[in-house]
Amino acid sequence: MATIFGSRDELTRDAALAAPVRSYPRPSRLAEPLRLRGAPGKALLALGIETVGDLLEHLPHSHRDRRDVRLVADLGVGEEATVAVGVRGVTVRPMRDRRRKRVEARVFDESGPLIAVWFNQPWIARQLGEGAQVLLHGKLRRRSEFWVTEHEVFGDGGAPVHTVGLVPVHPATQGITPARLRGLVWDSYPRIFDLVEPLPAGLRTAERLADRPASVAAVHFPDSEPDERAARRRLAYEEVLLLQLAVAGRRRTRREGRRARPLAGSGALVDRWRSSLPFELTGDQLRAMEEIDRDLAGERPMQRLLMGEVGSGKTVCALFAMLRAVENGAQAALMAPTETLAEQHHRTLDSLLGGHIPLELLTGSTPAGRRRDLLARLASGQLGLVVGTHALIEDPVAFRDLTLVVVDEQQRFGVRQRAALDRKAPAGLAPHALHMSATPIPRTLSLTAYGDLDATVLRELPRGRQPVETYVVDGARARARAYQRIRDEIADGRQCFVVCPLVEESEALQAKAATAEYERLRTTEFREQRVDLIHGQMPARRKQAAMEAFAAGEADVLVATSVIEVGIDVPNATVMLVEAAERYGLSQLHQLRGRVGRGAHRSLCILFGDPKLARLEAIAHERDGFRLAEIDLELRGAGDVLGTRQHGLPELRVARLPEDTEMLVRARDRADALLRADPRLERPEHVLLREAVVARFGSELDPIPA
Ligand code: ADP
Ligand code: MG
Repeated sequence: MATIFGSRDELTRDAALAAPVRSYPRPSRLAEPLRLRGAPGKALLALGIETVGDLLEHLPHSHRDRRDVRLVADLGVGEEATVAVGVRGVTVRPMRDRRRKRVEARVFDESGPLIAVWFNQPWIARQLGEGAQVLLHGKLRRRSEFWVTEHEVFGDGGAPVHTVGLVPVHPATQGITPARLRGLVWDSYPRIFDLVEPLPAGLRTAERLADRPASVAAVHFPDSEPDERAARRRLAYEEVLLLQLAVAGRRRTRREGRRARPLAGSGALVDRWRSSLPFELTGDQLRAMEEIDRDLAGERPMQRLLMGEVGSGKTVCALFAMLRAVENGAQAALMAPTETLAEQHHRTLDSLLGGHIPLELLTGSTPAGRRRDLLARLASGQLGLVVGTHALIEDPVAFRDLTLVVVDEQQRFGVRQRAALDRKAPAGLAPHALHMSATPIPRTLSLTAYGDLDATVLRELPRGRQPVETYVVDGARARARAYQRIRDEIADGRQCFVVCPLVEESEALQAKAATAEYERLRTTEFREQRVDLIHGQMPARRKQAAMEAFAAGEADVLVATSVIEVGIDVPNATVMLVEAAERYGLSQLHQLRGRVGRGAHRSLCILFGDPKLARLEAIAHERDGFRLAEIDLELRGAGDVLGTRQHGLPELRVARLPEDTEMLVRARDRADALLRADPRLERPEHVLLREAVVARFGSELDPIPA
């Protein structure tokens, strides 16, 4: 591939192919704001459309086939069809309820007359003067009465345009219809040819790709299905290529030109610690430790992702790596996204260490005096191990020799925060980094999200973990039985989570629903039990207090929103009840289920929802989180899986996963080749490509180093 941009001849040919007749770009016209008044204006903003350019990038999700314009005389009753007619006269009549109106137009074509009917849209009468030419789409209800679902006035010797042929259906939302959006796109159609082509001509030739403006035009208003498919693939390829360039750029930034202090496996400390563990390591854990050791022995900073469900034993592996640092006289830090998680890690690590090696906790609530002492010990190197929150990356925190960092739930930290932790390493050195994630994602997606990391997966659950029986139930009787079962568990001294329906659009609404459910349960089903509440709108302090109280056994039932997904470890909790389970993704349900079955007691997960739903059936029968993530991807498509924003995956607009995996792999090879030939995409023919990468993925991923 390196030859594409290699020789002078080829460059000249590229330049010739790329030379546009007009001058590129004309951003002023595409950047023109698109303003509509009232509800449609708000709807556009909700769709993320602010400019003409945004509108043109708002691609249809499907097309309706209206290529066949029929003759009035040939229509059969009940048939849906399109006709092109002239208007003879219009009347507005009251509908049966006397309040609403119906518009009736007498229309005709060369084969005969017809009555066209619109309900409850009186303004249409004003659009339809006598002699107007209209295209009508709808259904013949009775002989000669045609109920119109959509129309376009074309008249004046023109031809109907956007309502015939393959008619695009754009994703719409409350306040604006797909038809209105289509009209807007049609009005801006000429501007499509102002769109910038980011792909160099040589690449387009090699991959046989049409140019970008023509492809965007063909996706909105294609001539044929194959035409539309080819255009969409062209845009999908571009999208995954930009993504892979961003990922490859980040991989480079992370590895190349950075040196880490090699950590040899000298033995003594780590061996002693390993033989002191009260359990046997799983095969997966042993393998992970070997891989970590291999990384640490090198001069290139380790960039490893350790993926495994909650309870799969990641923390033990992380501690192994941290102790390697201590053994070599260096320091290690573990950063978690919340105080609760940091505290939990601190407890787990402390007990795994058996109290032999000092380990401290640094969070926003560490008291000033203790904090001062702790910072001094970190700076002098006296303290080797620290666990904390964002507090670790604040300015006053300095290490003598930070050589290893562990980042828990790494997708919840921004690029900048992770970089800030890296900068705590001694000047000129980068720390080795171990990233942990409890969210299993299928390989296809890890290629896009974590393409810049080496991955290790812990699949095997440690022995002694309780399998959680899962039931999907529906209806009042099943509900009553479920509550009875929970009361029985509580009578036996156990505890229970009740998780309220997910409300994607609004955390406030979800919090409100949880509060209402809490009130209901504590005055009805669980009037004799101790019920507590936790939701995302509560101040952090109250959330933490509720978590702690529940962990300490001070409440029997914890009514919660999805905030408990990643969180506290309560071995005494044995029931997880989820309301409106169909609203959750499979991976989320699996995470919720993982909150129980963590102690010695048999546990169960009760999902309220339709047992016949494929997704719920899958979770009832499948225990492997990775398998479930794959099923989720197949059933819902990446759009929705990504929609939960939990995986730290960038959003794809045109490409579809897993369907486009092969394309993704091809794009990755292409991206590698491009960057090998021109590491910073600085050549003239790559400038627009570089700009496109940064514009599209620059905020999610590191921009390619300039
Ligand atoms: P994760 O970080 O993946 O959620 P942890 O490392 O915190 O999992 O482990 C969860 C619990 O299981 C901890 O209490 C830990 O001591 C214990 N554990 C870890 N590995 C094993 C093992 N191989 N056998 C038994 N228990 C284990
Ligand atoms: Mg853990």
